[in-house]
Amino acid sequence: MDQPAGPVGVSSADAVWNQAAAEIVSAGRRLDRHGWVPATAGNLSRRLPDGRIAITRSGVHKGYLAADDVIEVDLDGQAVNTVHRPSAETLLHCQIYRGLSEGAVLHGHSVAATVLSLEASGPELLFSGYELLKVFEGQDTHDAVLRLPVFDNDQDIARLSRTVAPHLPDCPMGYLLRGHGVYVWGGDMQQALARLEGLEFLLACALERSRLEPKR
Ligand SMILES: [Zn+2]
Repeated sequence: MDQPAGPVGVSSADAVWNQAAAEIVSAGRRLDRHGWVPATAGNLSRRLPDGRIAITRSGVHKGYLAADDVIEVDLDGQAVNTVHRPSAETLLHCQIYRGLSEGAVLHGHSVAATVLSLEASGPELLFSGYELLKVFEGQDTHDAVLRLPVFDNDQDIARLSRTVAPHLPDCPMGYLLRGHGVYVWGGDMQQALARLEGLEFLLACALERSRLEPKR
């Protein structure tokens, strides 16, 4: 990069970065409209074709992001060219990008994801019979049974990332952190958003159905 410019050291001519930042700002507003990123919860990121990782900085509301709330981190989650602090959960994004040379990762804290992950006694939730299962790649029938892993929450993010790592190749829907939220990703922002909306729809359906079940 020739000319450091602006508060986060990004050249104003860096159209690729600016596009990624704009996608993140727009996605933040979309998640906020659904109520999936309350307070300062959630993180959103993009991996650019050149390998750089753009991610929301710590402590900002995702419904009110500005372009300079998006900072660069390396694959180890360390901030690059910025005085801002990355979110504590940055490492969970970076580990997904180790298997994704370009793409987007979305993390939210919806009511349905939080309640259902707390209620789940086992290590997964299973979904079948929903037409919307087709939103997840590789599914051409609603008859599939898709598995959504649920990992126990852990404030030690490095330890949590080591727990999650071996399961990442087997997470077609993403995964849940118990009592915390959801992680979803895709090859670009549009695909990640479609998967997140699909998964949140299924979680909302499961929550509604649990209300219809006879009381235990
Ligand atoms: Zn979180």
